[in-house]
Amino acid sequence: TKRVFSGIQPTGDLHLGNYIGAMKQFLPLQEQADCFFCIVDLHALTVPRDPEELREKTLELATLYLATGLDPDKITLFIQSQVPGHAEAAWLLQCVARMGELNRMTQFKDKSQGSDSVTAGLFTYPVLQAADILLYQTDVVPVGEDQKQHLELTRDLAERFNRQYGEVFRIPEHQIPKTGARIMGLDNPEKKMSKSAPSEANYITLLEDEKSILKKFKRAVTDSENEIRFDPENKPGVSNLLAIYSEMSGQSVESLVEQYQGKGYGHLKLDTAEAVINRLKPIQERYRELRESGEVEAVLRRGAERAREVSEATLAEMKKAMGLVQF
Ligand code: ATP
Ligand code: MG
Repeated sequence: TKRVFSGIQPTGDLHLGNYIGAMKQFLPLQEQADCFFCIVDLHALTVPRDPEELREKTLELATLYLATGLDPDKITLFIQSQVPGHAEAAWLLQCVARMGELNRMTQFKDKSQGSDSVTAGLFTYPVLQAADILLYQTDVVPVGEDQKQHLELTRDLAERFNRQYGEVFRIPEHQIPKTGARIMGLDNPEKKMSKSAPSEANYITLLEDEKSILKKFKRAVTDSENEIRFDPENKPGVSNLLAIYSEMSGQSVESLVEQYQGKGYGHLKLDTAEAVINRLKPIQERYRELRESGEVEAVLRRGAERAREVSEATLAEMKKAMGLVQF
């Protein structure tokens, strides 16, 4: 069976982009592969955080993973910081990674905006991500489109390590969905929907109530034409609505475009909101049940145990290959 790894940062409220780009792909994979899903709290530390809020968001994210339908008996769900191998392997890989290649990461450029006060962790973050993936001898990494470049780096680091020190790592492939790989911000369809967006109008969270979902879709930025067609380049706002509607309702983009010929944007916005509300409802119900049940902590404990077991085997091989003495 194939090994799958994917991580999400507990940096804010999970949104439709995270759900459509990443989590929706996890469900079929849990039936056919050995899946490791990780709450990457060490990544969250690359920007200053309120400790209390980080703790809260970490447990919320764990609960949401399960609420979307992931079955703790089929997958391994764990918190990154509870598995020490991630930070250790990241250091070893930092001694393989090059400044030049990290300098080329567009996410770093976006998030740092050239400022001097960003942390060193934000710069080396993609190396920690590579460690996350490689420690599990991962075959497939289901992620959104924005992670493509980091995945390429992960492959480069693994190949370089294998060349320099001998075959230790399996080389992973990314799995990026065909539609919905890049859900755009509702307030600005030129940029991706993001947990760390400055305005709440940017995203719909998975726990958002009906009224607010409706309001945000009504205000979603579109364009000054009135034709509904799928054209991300020239009509990013309308195309984004179509992508969300399609992904949340299971209808194809083409059939939606056909259905909405001659109808106004208002119509499309309302129906998209309704599709989102309907899709999120059972997830929100399950979320509340799980929160009350208190079973999430036990799932995370078990997950960390298995993750430690698997990652330690790879870490020991890395150390041996690099010449570190182990007794
Ligand atoms: P942050 O702004 O803090 O980086 P984020 O919204 O980018 O948060 P991450 O935790 O970095 O969320 O990413 C988790 C997963 O969600 C990744 O697989 C990423 O590719 C995917 N993802 C994030 N944003 C989108 C989006 N707008 N559309 C599709 N997939 C997305
Ligand atoms: Mg991100």
